[in-house]
Amino acid sequence: MTDTPAPRKRLLIRTWGCQMNVYDSARMADVLAPLGYAPTEQVEEADMVILNTCHIREKATEKVFSDLGRLREAKQARGGEMVIAVAGCVAQAEGAEITARAPWVDLVLGPQSYHRLPEMVARAARAAGTVIETEFPTEDKFDHLPETTAPQGATAFLTIQEGCDKFCSFCVVPYTRGSEYSRPVAAIVAEAERLVALGAREITLLGQNVNAWHGEGPDGGAWTLGRLARRLAEIEGLLRIRYTTSHPRDMDDDLIAAHGDTPALMPFLHLPVQSGSDRVLRMMNRGHTAADYLRLVERLRAARPDLALSTDIIAGHPGETDADHAATLALIREVGFAQAFSFKYSARPGTPASTMAGQVEEAVKDARLAEVQALLRDQQTAFNRSRAGLVAEVLVTGPGRHPGQMAGRTPWLNPVHFEGPAELAGQVVPVRILAGHPNSLTGTLAAPHRAQPRERPAA
Ligand code: SF4
Repeated sequence: MTDTPAPRKRLLIRTWGCQMNVYDSARMADVLAPLGYAPTEQVEEADMVILNTCHIREKATEKVFSDLGRLREAKQARGGEMVIAVAGCVAQAEGAEITARAPWVDLVLGPQSYHRLPEMVARAARAAGTVIETEFPTEDKFDHLPETTAPQGATAFLTIQEGCDKFCSFCVVPYTRGSEYSRPVAAIVAEAERLVALGAREITLLGQNVNAWHGEGPDGGAWTLGRLARRLAEIEGLLRIRYTTSHPRDMDDDLIAAHGDTPALMPFLHLPVQSGSDRVLRMMNRGHTAADYLRLVERLRAARPDLALSTDIIAGHPGETDADHAATLALIREVGFAQAFSFKYSARPGTPASTMAGQVEEAVKDARLAEVQALLRDQQTAFNRSRAGLVAEVLVTGPGRHPGQMAGRTPWLNPVHFEGPAELAGQVVPVRILAGHPNSLTGTLAAPHRAQPRERPAA
């Protein structure tokens, strides 16, 4: 700490990928704030640019390199006065390639090294060449990141778990984020309380395998996510809890029960299935069958009848046949998803699937993905339309696109727009849903607003 405020510098962070990257970007901004870095959106005025990358999408690495090419010009225009950092999963996986192909990059840091940013910035200022940190000391990271101080909106993310031990055939996460790590209960509760004090009313718990989270509770007992959710639900002012991303193998009995007995746990669950074919699920090393998944859905819906489900589907994994694809469509029809993310399989270097026999032709993958997406789109539209006529408890997140309009989200995570005063932001209000559209809902305030201590599930 120093008594003299550091000179004002500008920090631009570009974020790709999942909500965990969004959370990490906010924490990197927190960690750099004491060094005098304030956010900017303008690359020309940035003293430091961080690309927080994602390795999941196709050609992710090439996109990072084309961005780095543009940043090189921006850095030259500032006479070299710009620190360029590459963070996230591409940095973790391709650190050596980045330093070889883009020597104007000053820092390369993996997801477990963000707390070391200030030290790395200082080292970069002293040293020629690129400073690299891509180790996996997860405990360090959470122990050393500063407390969140930035003002929060009504919704906030909180990382409780990192890493993955599942090694799905197609996925780089176990290689880029390391093995599964759970943050301690006390640290999570303290961060949740801080977020609520800063105005958050809904917290989404994050983890690559969030429902693999486990830890020792203050009672000395072994807690899993259901118990943690119940503890967080006791925090005054925290109205809604969500968690993502879950693995079907880690949906334990207590977590399913928590969906029934913890009203703050929202009736929306993202539960990736990836395929409806047992053959493909085996090749993917998912550790569950289609029937296992369907049984889980049944149990979850028994615990919380209004639960809406979202999923991930991969079309055209190596070895996938027409019959396997048909099994995926059948599973989608049987479950009926409210939302979904679907992708065409694309090989990630270093993953088992990238070298499997039976790679599916692009045209076939395209056709299968189109079928999957058409079905999922229809299901999403049908779900949204089924909300019409309900009075939904809506967490108001801020102004809508049009004057006098407010935006919020339902318990099922649908965006909603309705007419209302700006002072509703951050509150939960009843909204009568008038219409469901493919991607959102429109509604009208159902009653004059009163402050509500605790949300109830909508009828
Ligand atoms: S469980 Fe999720 S994060 Fe882990 S390897 Fe499979 S897809 Fe990747």
